[in-house]
Amino acid sequence: MTNKDLADLLLPNVSSDIEYYENKYPARSLAPDAVVTRFAPSPTGFVHMGSLFASFIGKKAAHDSNGVFFLRIEDTDQKREVENGITGIINDLKNFDITIDEGMTGEDSEIGAYGPYLQSRRKEIYQTYVKHLLEMGLAYPCFCSPEEIEETRQIQEKRKQRIGYYGRYAKCRRLTFEEIREKVEHNESFIIRFKSPGSFDNKIKVNDLVKGEIEFPENDLDIVILKSDGLPTYHFAHAVDDHLMHTTHVIRGDEWISSLPIHVQLFEALGFKAPKYAHLSPIMKEEDGKKRKLSKRKDPEAAVSFYHEKGIPVPAVKLYLMTIANTNFEQWYDCNKDKTLDDFKFDFKKVSGSGSLFDVDKLYNISKNYISYLKAPEVYVGTLNWAQEYDPSFAEILKKHQDYATRLFNIEREQKKPRKDYSCYSMIKSQIWYMFDELYENVTDYEFQTINDIDEIKRILNMYMEKYYHSDDDKETWFNRIKDLSEELGYAREVKEYKNNPDAYKGHVGDVSTVLRVALTSRAMTPDLYEIMKLLGQDRIFSRYQDFIKGN
Ligand code: GLU
Repeated sequence: MTNKDLADLLLPNVSSDIEYYENKYPARSLAPDAVVTRFAPSPTGFVHMGSLFASFIGKKAAHDSNGVFFLRIEDTDQKREVENGITGIINDLKNFDITIDEGMTGEDSEIGAYGPYLQSRRKEIYQTYVKHLLEMGLAYPCFCSPEEIEETRQIQEKRKQRIGYYGRYAKCRRLTFEEIREKVEHNESFIIRFKSPGSFDNKIKVNDLVKGEIEFPENDLDIVILKSDGLPTYHFAHAVDDHLMHTTHVIRGDEWISSLPIHVQLFEALGFKAPKYAHLSPIMKEEDGKKRKLSKRKDPEAAVSFYHEKGIPVPAVKLYLMTIANTNFEQWYDCNKDKTLDDFKFDFKKVSGSGSLFDVDKLYNISKNYISYLKAPEVYVGTLNWAQEYDPSFAEILKKHQDYATRLFNIEREQKKPRKDYSCYSMIKSQIWYMFDELYENVTDYEFQTINDIDEIKRILNMYMEKYYHSDDDKETWFNRIKDLSEELGYAREVKEYKNNPDAYKGHVGDVSTVLRVALTSRAMTPDLYEIMKLLGQDRIFSRYQDFIKGN
């Protein structure tokens, strides 16, 4: 009796015609160096930072080389499934502008010629390749119960031996055809194992694009390839799918690195060309001078929803991800300020092998810089979009005063060194609330600086309103009048004059301006006061000053 008889006995209704699939999924017509890669999550409903980072890199590497980035959903472990789990993943990716060229586009839809991209729909394909392996004598059925496997594990543990189904522990490897037939005839349930040709004493070397050359003992585990539910294990599906989908690069978390010897061996046994591997270390965070993994529990920025909630513009997040993806990016970007992310070529060799360090402050800095170079209407839209989701009453105010808000965002923008006030959309309100009457009410905590005498403050405000405020002044005239006011009250017109002769003055023009600023906005720091006064207008300026005078 032959291997073919065994294959027919075990999988009677399955074809072993792998040629059918080999022809159905021909090589892609792409340039030789094009990167074809994928994001291959389980349908868990969300993406975490590590996998967002991996997919960001995947898409970038594919696009840099005019290749393909696709989404395959790995649902062979049906215990891990959640309702609408695919949609959640697609939305998380979309939120970061990570769109796919091929693969799942919804719970039940996909695009691309290399599908299905949902593993549970590829059952027949896997079974065909399993049957093919059986026919080649490279696989066998295993009838061991979970209890027997557990017993073996305990024995191995006690004997301080490697855990797994190998060597003399691979009981079912030695079953005769007759024994197998009898068990099958008695309807004993079975799984299919790979008959590993390896020996643990041999060494193999695998070249990882990020980690470099790694040496491993050869795999000798007879791993499960087909489970009793007829679905493959991760390892087997990985080999079959990435072969048939013509993946050139597998970019994944380095928790898979220890499985590399299995994968390399499977590809070889199946006669497939193995893809290149890039194993990414977990994203790290520095705390108290020590590095640790970015933690879902401790670090809010580990959740991808964080960026959306904070209102960090997606292009800024992408710039940051590139900063931690490639160690040479930051310098490149510094020297190429007029270029975009698309102009930078991602390089696997420049990925940190020990784990990229995540630094929220740096992210905010990048974001602040990015927002400072936007046009005012873009800042308006970004802020409004954020507010509509997270602060609807603020969104209403912004909508009511669209033109006014846009002019406000335009202050000290579009100049060589624009103001850098906003590190994300969620903090804009706390910087501009005083410009809107709806938000200005009930301010009491004024923080004047040098001039603290309340009568003096009132004197400055009254005099300013009576004599020195003229609504149609240009900036220079406006400031000259504040100088005049200062002089009249015994303050130096220029800071320098005051510094040269501090005893001759009560203070200087800056102190007087601070009074005008704080009584108007209740903040000691604002963008250009002239611009702010222009926007607020005489009525509001006077009524705020009068309210202040009355209330103090
Ligand atoms: N489904 C695997 C995971 O979620 C994919 C790993 C891979 O990219 O090969 O970790």
